[in-house]
Amino acid sequence: MAVRPITITGEPVLHEIASPVTVFDDELRTLVADMFETMDEAPGVGLAGPQVGVALRVFVFSWADDEGESWRGVAINPELWQSPLTLNDLDDDDESEGCLSIPGERFPLRRADSVLLRAVDLEGEPYEIEAHGWLARIFQHEYDHLDGILYADRLEHPFSKAAAKAVRKNGWGGPGHTWTPGLDHPEG
Ligand code: ZN
Repeated sequence: MAVRPITITGEPVLHEIASPVTVFDDELRTLVADMFETMDEAPGVGLAGPQVGVALRVFVFSWADDEGESWRGVAINPELWQSPLTLNDLDDDDESEGCLSIPGERFPLRRADSVLLRAVDLEGEPYEIEAHGWLARIFQHEYDHLDGILYADRLEHPFSKAAAKAVRKNGWGGPGHTWTPGLDHPEG
């Protein structure tokens, strides 16, 4: 297993639709093992294939809820159904989201409170998880990565402007930028 470099916004693979996984082989198992190691080292609660430069519909997640129940797994070729968005004001503290591909930044974003994730695991076995709150947010964020959508693409004014400014300030937004957890400081 190895920590892989994480792609930063502007890298084309992050902005394209990823392809379904069709071959469940050692290469896929190595990819997923590396993705877990990279996510844990970052540290993060989720990581999608395009974030390690692989345009495949796969993401890993790791999260513990308030009751101490932990959720850790790999979603391959996922489908996602979500509840309607509520329209009350955004809560800057409770709804702030970040992304390892826009390291060091966080902005508030409304997400659906409940989702149903259906995917297959490394053996190709189907499973489903009904998720609420933060786990639902993680699933929506990671699923978006597979469609070439970053959370920054969904931000509303004035946060969209602030995110664009942060990307410019860091010199990102074009191809060729990565950072490696454990090696690089995200902002450096
Ligand atoms: Zn992300």
